[in-house]
Amino acid sequence: LVVISDVDKHYGELHVLKKINAVVNRGEVVVVIGPSGSGKSTLCRAINRLETIDAGVITIDGVKLPAEGKALAKLRADVGMVFQAFNLFAHKTVLENVTLGPIKVRGLSKAEAEEKAMVLLERVGVANQAKKMPAQLSGGQQQRVAIARALAMDPKVILLDEPTSALDPEMINEVLEVMINLANDGMTMIVVTHEMGFARRAADRVIFMAEGEIVEETTPEQFFTNPQSTRAKDFLSKIL
Ligand code: ATP
Ligand code: MG
Repeated sequence: LVVISDVDKHYGELHVLKKINAVVNRGEVVVVIGPSGSGKSTLCRAINRLETIDAGVITIDGVKLPAEGKALAKLRADVGMVFQAFNLFAHKTVLENVTLGPIKVRGLSKAEAEEKAMVLLERVGVANQAKKMPAQLSGGQQQRVAIARALAMDPKVILLDEPTSALDPEMINEVLEVMINLANDGMTMIVVTHEMGFARRAADRVIFMAEGEIVEETTPEQFFTNPQSTRAKDFLSKIL
């Protein structure tokens, strides 16, 4: 579904992505893990073309990422994105946050979009917060709204970049629970996270990045119990 071929990127002198090759199949859950600065977020952003690349090709469902315009907007709608910092629209209600995209981009009527939004908010456990403003919600609730908002577009794949790392510990599990349910429902997911519990319970594969390279790509079990590279061993000794 997502094919990343020989993707290269520099920020000035800094070589952030070095000939990255990866494939994410439909229904697969891939966890991307690695030290700070290894290029995980840059890769995620490249997949959504929030970031340009210097060389290589990324295709989603066989379509090469367009440079701009309507074609790009259409493709972006197929790629849901959830970030570390809650990025809800602060001046819109929870319900409006979830209905905006489907109305504007998918052409749903307000009533259709609201009905769908309520189903999704129910699914992530925050339907009773629909009329509130984002600031009135806890971090965990906001992050679950962000997931509902991404799902409302019926994306083909959803990217989550450290969705729990800005949360207080007691809120992490409620968000991980929602993510695990999504994974079990067959959603194609690329998740940057250091949550080993999530990786073990939900991931089909772990991609370990260091210094802009994919160093290791294996099952969660293998990665956490028997990492092959020195860099992965070093990394795991720090986070475990
Ligand atoms: P973290 O775990 O801290 O989120 P990461 O693996 O997501 O790290 P990236 O955010 O992809 O890492 O950053 C990779 C490298 O690129 C880092 O050295 C970072 O400082 C640099 N970088 C990221 N964004 C920019 C930018 N807009 N301009 C210049 N350098 C950048
Ligand atoms: Mg990052």
